[in-house]
Formats: sequence, C-alpha cells, structure tokens
Amino acid sequence: MLICGYRRIGTFTASRFRKRTVQCNRRQFCSLLFAAPAVFAQKPPEILIDRGFARVSRLAGGVFATIADPGKGPQCLSNGGVIVGSERILLIEGHFQPAGAALEIEAARRVSKAPILAALNTHYHLDHTFGNQAYAARRIAIIAHERAPILMRERYAALKPVDKAKRMAPLRNKIAATTNPLEKKRLQGDLQAEQWTDSAIDAVTLAYPAELVTSAQAHRKIDLGGISVVVESHAGHTPTDLIVRIPEHDIVFTGDLLFYHAYPVAFDSDPVAWRKVLEMFLAYPDRIRFIPGHGPVCGKETVRVHLDIMDDLQAHAQKMQLAGIPLEEAKQRYIVPPRFRDFDYSWWEWTIGSAVEKYYR
Ligand SMILES: [Zn+2]
Repeated sequence: MLICGYRRIGTFTASRFRKRTVQCNRRQFCSLLFAAPAVFAQKPPEILIDRGFARVSRLAGGVFATIADPGKGPQCLSNGGVIVGSERILLIEGHFQPAGAALEIEAARRVSKAPILAALNTHYHLDHTFGNQAYAARRIAIIAHERAPILMRERYAALKPVDKAKRMAPLRNKIAATTNPLEKKRLQGDLQAEQWTDSAIDAVTLAYPAELVTSAQAHRKIDLGGISVVVESHAGHTPTDLIVRIPEHDIVFTGDLLFYHAYPVAFDSDPVAWRKVLEMFLAYPDRIRFIPGHGPVCGKETVRVHLDIMDDLQAHAQKMQLAGIPLEEAKQRYIVPPRFRDFDYSWWEWTIGSAVEKYYR
C-alpha cells in the first residue's frame, strides 16, 4: 500500500513539476543573458551534495540552499537549506519525506560539528512538513508558526481515518456531469491533486513543530555564532508563513510566499496580505537573492512576475463579478495570458480557481 502510494505520488509529481524542471534550465540560460550585474557577478555556487532529488549548494559563507528537483524524486519536493554558525546550525524545511529532511541533516554534518539548534518549517503545507519525522527521530526541535500544528492536525491528521473514496465522490460526480472537455480536463487535474494529498496523508507519520512563533513576534533574531538569521512571520500564502532572512548576505528563504514560474497555490491565501509581503520583497536591496519554496534561486524579477499574475487574476475576478457571473463560471472563464502560458497551472482549482474565489470575497 505504502509503496503503491508513493509510486502514485512519484508519477504525479513528476508530471506536475516536469515543466518547472525544464523552466529552471531555461531560466538559467536566460539569467546569463538578462541577469542584473550584481547577480551576474556572483560566483557559481559550490555544490556540497547532489542527490538528484535535491542539490545542496553554498550561496555564501555558512549559507547553503537545498534546491529540490521533483522530477527526480519526491523526497524533498520543496526547497530548503542549512545555515551554519560557529555555535549552532539552523535547518530549513521539513520537506515531503523524511529522506528530504535527512538530507539537510547530512549537509549540516558535512560542514560542521556544531549542534543543530532546530529545523524550521516555513508553513504547514505537506510538502514542507511531511518529512519532519526525520528531525523528531533525532530529537531536533522544529520551529514553525503557532498555527502550523493546529492546521496540520485539522487538514491532515483529521483526514487519516476519513473514507477517501467518499470524500472524492462529489468531485467525481462533477467530472461525470461536465460536458465541456477543457473544464473536464481541469477537474480531472484537481481530482489528481486531491488524490495525491490523500495518499500522502495515509502514508505520513506526522511530527508536529513545538517551537512556535506567534504573529506578534514579527521579528525574531537568532544568533548562530558569527552569523545571525531573522525569522519573520508574514501571512499571505497561508496563515502560517515564516521567512528566514540572512541580512549580512542579502539572502531570504521565502517558503511559498514567492512562486517561481508558476501560478501561486492560493487556496489558503490572503491575497491582500500576500501582495504586501511581495511589495516588501521589492523594497529589499537589488542584490537580494531569494530561495523560493520551489524552483531556482532568484531575484526581484520573480517577485514582479508573481505580482503581475496576481494582478491579472484580480482584474479577471473584478470583471466577472461586475458582470454578475457566478463564481464557478468565473473560475473557468479565466484565460491564461500568452506570457504565462508555459507557467505551471496544472492544478486549476488550487491556483486559478481559488485565487478567483478569494478575490470574489
Ligand atoms: Zn505551500
């Protein structure tokens, strides 16, 4: 059952992320042509570990980024990292499977004997927390927003005993009743996404964060010894988003507050708050480097594209609402503009549908 579940996840994620893998290559090529001088001047990162499903590279001093390649395996699915000080080490992300989180521990041990202070989950979503068990097994503390464990229990643990076939019945019925082939295809993609989630929930042993950051603790500085990180709470993609800034190197781990070359997953989002976070990213120095939740290390140009997508979705929702179009119809009537056609939006409801719904509200 377990193997079958993982095989399904593997097949699905491979198709979902294939475009992104190709796009990374294209972006790397484009970055050679169009990169800002400051970024262009960066030395190519030193690769610490390349495991196929993810590659750990040194970005600066004690800062390592783990860039996932979902096309080669679902162990990480999300990006992460390791920040090494002389006294302590901070790991970033719980990833999708314990093997993904174990890679962060391995990377830390390759470069330092300093104790691991904690591992941080940027938000509660399954591809950032389902590997936490690797940390729990080694008694590594897990830091997250205070609402992360609550939502993990509500959205994942509570679904473990649920009859999944019954849960999917309304969506299956909707697919059967839909005559429009394009809409049918999108709904089938949505079903696949839900089934992937269900399989992951069935397979996971959850390990909950216990070092909790409240929204009131907006900025929390952690001195690792010779290098400091700032953990900030900024809801937008979910109510649980944390970012990790390393001010002395102008590096920010954004979690899923920044999407690279993809329509943002929006079902948990607050688009007004999210926009403010992206505008804050634009106010950072031009040399800033972002490690997004998925995709390659990027700069402010990715923030601008992310905002353009949000603006386009908002304009569509406003137009539809003014015309009195029912919500479900408005979701389907969105047309992906030519400049975003090769972006990832294979999960229509999780990305476009839910964004339109948020703007309708
Ligand atoms: Zn997410």
